[in-house]
Amino acid sequence: MIQIAIDGPGGAGKTTLSKGIAKKLGIVYVDTGAMYRTVGLYVRDHGYSYEDTSAVVSLLPEIHIEVRFEDGVQNIYLNGVNPGERIREPEISMYASGVSKIPEVRAFLLETQKDIARKNSVIMDGRDIGTVILPDADLKLFMTASPETRAKRRYLELIEKGQNVTFEQVMEEMVARDAQDAGREIAPAIPADDAIMYDNSGLTFEESLDALYAFIQEKLGDKLNNL
Ligand code: C5P
Repeated sequence: MIQIAIDGPGGAGKTTLSKGIAKKLGIVYVDTGAMYRTVGLYVRDHGYSYEDTSAVVSLLPEIHIEVRFEDGVQNIYLNGVNPGERIREPEISMYASGVSKIPEVRAFLLETQKDIARKNSVIMDGRDIGTVILPDADLKLFMTASPETRAKRRYLELIEKGQNVTFEQVMEEMVARDAQDAGREIAPAIPADDAIMYDNSGLTFEESLDALYAFIQEKLGDKLNNL
């Protein structure tokens, strides 16, 4: 069993790179942000603000989140239904970030995340994976890229998905979300003491993936042969 923790802000390339690495290594890719987005979606769909902590906490017993790995892909089921791309709406990014500041919400998702890593070799992507969820991970990376690079990636991703956004909106939302995630009291989005910083600004996806794969092979060596 192997655990690779990937943390860092939005648009740093965590998701695409982690998925690519998971495929190459034949291990499970876990997107923990999707779980916070699912809680955020439920709160939005029920007409509450993410600032209304007591309302959010009172909704938690109604929320059942199941994570299934189907054909090598993580699918989330919210009360039995896969919300699909709805969790990727730009508005849901702020809902996810808002609810993720609430200790009860973090506690609610923590065990699901730890349990997946107990049962599978994983590359897990989030904000507190190296610090809270997998403190003993075999390798911890904190991925970053310049704010311009990250906002551009996020913008292109959203446009490709048919979302109606401007670059300025994406940049503004990203800066606000980064500040909220890094500045919160519980599980702030900061590197673990033993995390390795990985800045991929200026690299194409293929270049980053090749460099990262080589780096992981060098760091984890024999462990990868015994998966
Ligand atoms: O990674 P993604 O952008 O989908 O995450 C959405 C939000 O969920 C983040 O902005 C962050 O507030 C929250 N999150 C978190 N801890 C994680 C993963 C995501 O607080 N492990």
